[in-house]
Amino acid sequence: MASLSIQIERHAGSEVASPECLAVLECLDAYVDGESSDAEVSRVGLHLVECAECRRAEHSLRRLIETVRHSQLSVMASRRLRLRVAQLFLAHDRSDD
Ligand SMILES: [Zn+2]
Repeated sequence: MASLSIQIERHAGSEVASPECLAVLECLDAYVDGESSDAEVSRVGLHLVECAECRRAEHSLRRLIETVRHSQLSVMASRRLRLRVAQLFLAHDRSDD
């Protein structure tokens, strides 16, 4: 995710970034998406409790994901596009036969 690596670079540029912060930031994407393993969730969760910098990164990542979701919803709300996609799927199904 391009935007996440921008956040990691910014974070790494600050004075407080530790190797643990970098490790946490690298799996923050999966953590926020709920795709982390249990061990990762507790590791990241514990770190977020004590690290304000990583909490900030987590918050901006969640905001970013919300923004992306909202923009997808508005695209999905377009009836024309849904029809177009449905047509493409139908055409694809036919070409498989
Ligand atoms: Zn941290």
